[in-house]
Amino acid sequence: MIHSRRTSYRIGRARLNSQFPRLLPGAVRRLPVDDGIAVTIDDGPTETGTLGIVRHCAVLGLKATFFFSGSQVKRFPETMQEVAAAGHDIASHGWRHVSPLRLRGPEFLRDLTSSINVIEEVSGRRPRCYRPPYGRIHPVHLRRAAALGCTVVLWSLMPGDWYPDESVADVRRRLECLRGGDIVVLHERPGQQNRMLDVLSSIAELCDRRGLSFHTLESVT
Ligand SMILES: [Zn+2]
Repeated sequence: MIHSRRTSYRIGRARLNSQFPRLLPGAVRRLPVDDGIAVTIDDGPTETGTLGIVRHCAVLGLKATFFFSGSQVKRFPETMQEVAAAGHDIASHGWRHVSPLRLRGPEFLRDLTSSINVIEEVSGRRPRCYRPPYGRIHPVHLRRAAALGCTVVLWSLMPGDWYPDESVADVRRRLECLRGGDIVVLHERPGQQNRMLDVLSSIAELCDRRGLSFHTLESVT
């Protein structure tokens, strides 16, 4: 396939996170299996967007992993319960969506522990996966998360769904490089729900064409 210079750059960028595994040994970037992919959705729950995504996932037969911020779970606890009841995984995205690189040890522990606790209180299940906001984390914090029983999960494919000036066609083009074992990261953004639903449909269509199933993170990591 021939890409324009602009598209090639952005496809490279979509894969950027998976190219430096030595920087954070112990962080998961790909699934240990290649018969399917994991769809991960960050930054919820939101007031109306999350349940729209869950309904669309049901139509597509897609199970995802939602990385929720603890402060949002506190605002919308019933939403999180509905996500869990629909069979999706719930994971932690910290409490207040601040880069862990800006947090000292005790602050990081407080942020992560509070998010784990609120998820456990509301869902009855302790989350086992944690994604640092912006995908940034110091190796020392990574070991702290592991000590709390959390695997740090990044991603292997970031199609750029949240760029406000990007068309769905651009996002779809980036998704063309999807392959078995990928962990795809998407983002809930107020006002961009239709785009998210389109992107999920594109992923489901690609997986169907390529014979790939959907895995939640806890089912394979
Ligand atoms: Zn985030």
